[in-house]
This record gives sequence, C-alpha cells and structure tokens, in this order.
Amino acid sequence: AHRFDSIPMAAPDAILGISEAFAADARAEKMNLSVGVYKDAQGVTPVMKCVKAAEQKLLETEQTKSYLPIDGLPDYRHAVREMLLGDEFPADRAAVVQTPGGTGALRVAGDFLATQCAPTRVFLPNPTWANHSAIMRAAGLGVETYSYLGADRRSLDFEAMIADLSEKTRPGDAVLLHACCHNPTGVDPTAAQWQQIANLLATRGLIPLLDFAYQGFGDGLEADAAGLRTVLEHCDEAIVCSSYSKNFGLYSERVGAVTLIAGSPAATATALSQLKIVVRANYSNPPRHGGSIVATVLADPELTRMWKAELEEYRLRITRLRELFVAGMKEQPGAPDFSFLLNQKGMFSYSGLTAMQADELRTQHGVYVVGSGRINVAGINEQKVDWLCRAVADVM
Ligand code: PMP
Repeated sequence: AHRFDSIPMAAPDAILGISEAFAADARAEKMNLSVGVYKDAQGVTPVMKCVKAAEQKLLETEQTKSYLPIDGLPDYRHAVREMLLGDEFPADRAAVVQTPGGTGALRVAGDFLATQCAPTRVFLPNPTWANHSAIMRAAGLGVETYSYLGADRRSLDFEAMIADLSEKTRPGDAVLLHACCHNPTGVDPTAAQWQQIANLLATRGLIPLLDFAYQGFGDGLEADAAGLRTVLEHCDEAIVCSSYSKNFGLYSERVGAVTLIAGSPAATATALSQLKIVVRANYSNPPRHGGSIVATVLADPELTRMWKAELEEYRLRITRLRELFVAGMKEQPGAPDFSFLLNQKGMFSYSGLTAMQADELRTQHGVYVVGSGRINVAGINEQKVDWLCRAVADVM
C-alpha cells in the first residue's frame, strides 16, 4: 500500500488565497488590501535604490559564495546589534545570529527556548500574526495567549493585558511582544505602558521575546526601538527576532536575526553556542546575499543615507494614506468615523470591517480585505481613495 495515499489535504494559506483570487478578478477597478508587503504609488513592491547600489557593489567585489559561519556575517551581525540596541549597549551581552528572515529567527528562538529553558511556555497576544503559534508549536513549546485588543477592536485593552500577564504566567515563561507596528491590528502600547509591561516582565521573571519586523514603519527607526529599549532597562535577559524583509524590501532574500541578551558576557557566549546548535540542525548556516546587502548599505555612509531617506518615504506614504482614507470616509454620509486609524502604527490596521462586509467588498466592489478586517494601508491607491471610501461606506 502507498504510504502517501491517505494524507489529508492541508488548508491553503488564507491570505495568499485572497491574492490568487485578486489576480483572477477581471474587473478594471479593483484594489488588493490583503497582502503583507509594502506597495508604492504604482502598486508595486519596489527594490530600494540603496539595495540596487549595494548589489552592484557586491557584484564587483564579492570574492566567494562559500558557506557563511553558522551565526552569519560578522558585519551584518554588528549592524543588526546597532540598529536594535544603539551603540551604547554592551556588545558582549548581545549575541546576534543571522537567520533566514524573521520567521527563521522566531523558529531559532523557539527551538532555543524549548531546549534550553524548558518547561517554558510562550504567551502570544490575541490576536497576533497567524504564523506565531504555528512556529512555536513546531518548536515544541506550549502556546498560551494574553488579552491584547479591546472589545472595540481598535484599541489596546491594557488592563486585561496586564491582568493576564500577571495571573496566567509562571516565572520563566516567555512573552511575545510586537516591538512596534503590531500585526494585524496596528495597535501599539504607549511609552508609559511599555514601562509598566517591562516592569511586570522583570518582577515576574518572564522572558521577553520581541518580534521586531517593522522597524522604521511606525514613528521612525530610532523611535520604533523605544519599547525594546525600555524592556532592556528593566530586564537583563531578552530575545529579539528581527526582520529586514520590510524595512529593506528584501522579502525574498530572507534576512533576519535573533539577538539574545543575557545577564553577563559569559552567559551570552554560552547561549550563543546553543543558538548555533539550533541553527546547525535546522539549516546549517544562513544565506549570504541578503545579509551582505544590509551589511554593505550600513557600512557605507552614502548608502545608509539613501536607505534612511527611502524608508522614511515609505513611512510617510503610509501616514498620508491613513489621513486620506480617514478624510475620505468623513465625506461619506452616514459612514462611521475612522479617526482611530490615525493612532495605529505601521502598514496594517484593523478596519472594523466584519468578515461579511469584507466578503461584500470583494464581491460587489473588487476590494480585497482579509476576513479579520485587517487592511494593508500601503495597498491603497492614492488616485482611488474616493472610490474606495464609497465602496467601504456601501457595505457598512
Ligand atoms: N513577524 C511579524 C509580525 C510579521 O508580520 C512577519 C512578516 N509578515 C514576520 C515576523 C516574518 O518576517 P519574514 O518575512 O522576514 O520571515
């Protein structure tokens, strides 16, 4: 008998399925607000100019395609540490490991927690990026959730969050926090709330696990690191999973890092040795190209300047689109107020649209939105904001 004949079909990826339906939609007027990538005014996900320039340079200077070290390119690791922690943080307390994307970083962190910190469980915000629980379960960790989004579906229920983290956790559990630009809601804690969260993590002995996939998309590169840095003022230990898919536009090159902060240089070195064991058994060593691009950009002042300008342009475009949409909805008679979108950070927002309204938007108007009502603000076409607002008002 065949072993593979009785395997059940897995469910297709919800968001990628929407994009396939969008591509097949023959209507002239349509808009895809579902996917999780940045888009420019032309609706394309561009290669940054600084990336092209770095690739040009690499094409001329790269000497080898031989394996990288297990923990990745030294220059890249150095650059990541500075982006995350600034240049004051003691380098010998932060071990950076280059990983295939933020997803790879999360899996390495999960495996590390499962093997070195058992019996730790990981607490995820409700809601969170759908892949978080799949990754942590695959690593063998117990997965729990803590309250995050309020019943209004547009603001943080901070009291419930603190109550859950105080009452449901045991010392030694890990708590995953979105360092900025919470996906899927766009709802972030305030600076004062970060202080309270950090204090709670420290006093309860919880391990901060920060997912940092959108640095530069919220309030700016440095400002977006404020929550992480507040956590590190209170906690000696933390793990950061960062991704350069969005802020360098390097999605398919798979560029990320796991950064482990430990209480002493000796503990940091020991933890790094275990992170390398995890990497070795997963993918052996990371891909070179994407990490080389980031390292090349950040080692060159002119390319760095270009990068910061391009990233800032992305960020400001998203802010402008939020404003245009909110203003456009104000002009729709009887439509609800969308001002709350202005307080949300990053590419994503919970729009408040129900699954049924999302369905109607797609069938009646050709506007594609995830069933949760999450919209990718960067997917809005500036020329068609009025058209979009009429469609949204029509289904609400
Ligand atoms: N964390 C969050 C919150 C994300 O939104 C994403 C990307 N959608 C990732 C991690 C993974 O990023 P990468 O594509 O670099 O694996």
